[in-house]
Amino acid sequence: MTEAFEAGRVGALLERLVAFRTENPPGREFEAARFLGDLLGRRGFSIELQEVDGDGRANVVARLENGAGPAFAFCSHLDVVPAGSGWSTDPFRLVEKDRRYYGRGACDAKGAVAAMVEGMSLLASRRGDWSGTLIGVFVADEEVLATGARSYVARSPKIDYVVIGEPTDNQVASAHKGCLRPVVRIHGKEAHSGEPERGINAITLSSRFVGRVADLDADLRKRSHALVGNAALTVTRMNGGLADNVVPAHCDVVLDRRVLPSERMEDVRRDLQAFLAKAEVEIGFDADVLEYRSEAGPSETPENSPLVQKALAVCRANDVAADRPRGLTGGCDLVHFREICSDGIILGPGSLLVAHKPNEFVPISELNLACRLYQEIALAMYRR
Ligand SMILES: [Zn+2]
Repeated sequence: MTEAFEAGRVGALLERLVAFRTENPPGREFEAARFLGDLLGRRGFSIELQEVDGDGRANVVARLENGAGPAFAFCSHLDVVPAGSGWSTDPFRLVEKDRRYYGRGACDAKGAVAAMVEGMSLLASRRGDWSGTLIGVFVADEEVLATGARSYVARSPKIDYVVIGEPTDNQVASAHKGCLRPVVRIHGKEAHSGEPERGINAITLSSRFVGRVADLDADLRKRSHALVGNAALTVTRMNGGLADNVVPAHCDVVLDRRVLPSERMEDVRRDLQAFLAKAEVEIGFDADVLEYRSEAGPSETPENSPLVQKALAVCRANDVAADRPRGLTGGCDLVHFREICSDGIILGPGSLLVAHKPNEFVPISELNLACRLYQEIALAMYRR
């Protein structure tokens, strides 16, 4: 029997999802994954829980085979950033106020998860209207290392199209930036601070290095991409000093380099190494890259791809602004899926401006509309 969309059902599902405390770290998405698996299992999907490295971590993959046709996947993440302070309400209890749902993850990205599950359930109830394979992949650990998406993709599943659920105000995004974060250790020489001239102050050296980082950033900002904006380089952490009365022997500087879809990660890494080598000579210090704390590439689906164009048409038909696709300045799991399928977009209810902050919310009208958009985009791709 064909089910009708019920606004109350998606709100109730979001309430359940928000109540799972999947703050990352540590994540512990297993219970939420099992809950979704049980729910989608009852609605006709075959379910696989995939363990992910770490305590109590899992992806849930739901699959419905319905004849010949493309494999269409929805993917979003079960983890949320830590609740932090400054909330007006309990972040793990969904609160409805002013036609919005408030709660940690309401926007990033449990709203998208709930809307995808609802859209998939409606598609499952009208199997005569489409032909192909419908897949839902709800992953662990998007916010930190993307181990969930990486471990799913490493199994080489066959997917033709993917929609990644992240807050885009329900607009179609087809590109996002990548990120590379080297931890640079600048070496000096320890000494008693009563005679600082006997040492080499690693913090003083680091401050000169940071000045050069700002110069390089000014250059990098001239590189730009039509959908995601500029490349950028900034210092996000500096950590040095042993005691109040010791000239510091080393100082660690964390750099955050945002990478455009038009740049290659290996070139960016090589250029950063060359920049550091030049600074070593010109400022006069020794430095090492201790590690790359985060490394996730950019990605872009061509604007003329059928998925991008059909999704834009569905948005326009539903009064969502959609002349052109958007780009995201942050990273997302699309880059991992691009290893296994050529076409992917990012679309979800809520705004990135309220994500990762206290009093995060999703407008209820956007949440409800997302259920419809997801369903219609999938149908548009199945009916080729
Ligand atoms: Zn997210």
